[in-house]
Amino acid sequence: MSAPAATAASAPGSDSALLEVDGLYTHFELRQWGFLRTGTVRAVDGVSFTLDAGEATAVVGESGCGKSSLARTLLGLHRPTAGSLHFAGSELSSLGRADLKAYRAQVGYVQQDPYGALPPFMEVRRILAEPLIVHGIRRRAERWQRIQAALEEVGLAPATEIAGKFPHQLSGGQQQRVVIARALLLRPAMLIADEPVSMLDASVRVEILTLLHRVQQEHRLALLYITHDLSTVRHYVDRAMVMYGGRVVEQAPVDALLRHPQHPYTEALLSALGDPDAANAGRPRPVPGGEAPSLIHPPSGCRYHPRCPHAMAGRCELEPPPPDFRPRPEHRVACWLRE
Ligand code: SF4
Repeated sequence: MSAPAATAASAPGSDSALLEVDGLYTHFELRQWGFLRTGTVRAVDGVSFTLDAGEATAVVGESGCGKSSLARTLLGLHRPTAGSLHFAGSELSSLGRADLKAYRAQVGYVQQDPYGALPPFMEVRRILAEPLIVHGIRRRAERWQRIQAALEEVGLAPATEIAGKFPHQLSGGQQQRVVIARALLLRPAMLIADEPVSMLDASVRVEILTLLHRVQQEHRLALLYITHDLSTVRHYVDRAMVMYGGRVVEQAPVDALLRHPQHPYTEALLSALGDPDAANAGRPRPVPGGEAPSLIHPPSGCRYHPRCPHAMAGRCELEPPPPDFRPRPEHRVACWLRE
């Protein structure tokens, strides 16, 4: 298969999608003693969505809902158990090593922990040069030109001074700007940002989200923004998907999802945000109704039924709702209440 390119034809079944994910499963076998199998982690369990060029989508859910496993599967770091992944018309599961390398150049990755993402004993200049060398930019002058432009684009100036620093000499916000610069260096078509501000001081979170939003708009990037915090999505994305127990339970344009949530779990996430004027505004409270479900032994039927205040006896614990009831245009929800 030829290497995927952002300018290639769109995925089958879609007129414009850059990324098309259809019935994706990523399961892991847990082994405790030697090869003795102790369970299957159903981290991603039948997820479908599309992402257009230039579109920003948030993936929202509690810790352990499968959203980071979804991100790592899209990055090619986990092999899907089943389902299909098309990027710019190419099926990813069949890519060989060289094509996978070409695909990764098309997909920038912004990790949760910027300090952990940056090699501690390398200067910023060398950290940013590495992906360019790996992807065949051999002329030193061209590498420096790209590094300088990327640092300036993310607000790290003067570039010559920043390039000579080690990660520990930078603040957390500056480190995350370097991670974003690295993600942009190869001029990707898509960015995956996995909880990009959750380990930063509250004072710089808005700055980093605003920066991501600006570069996404300016480069017309597809953006998958993964977060546990629904309060951070409103101004930065076009659409939002809510994950629960490895599945997508609701997806819609972000305004519709925030104003007219259709799934009881989305309602619970919103209620946990609390009063924006209260003293603890911006700090989500625990979602009511108990813990997130086990991905090894998920509840039967609707996975939310043990926590759901609207669960219908004899139905919700037995029958999993399909993921695509459409109570409103462009709004899909997995809940029997919207049948
Ligand atoms: Fe609640 Fe039933 Fe809807 Fe699940 S399907 S969210 S248990 S009402």
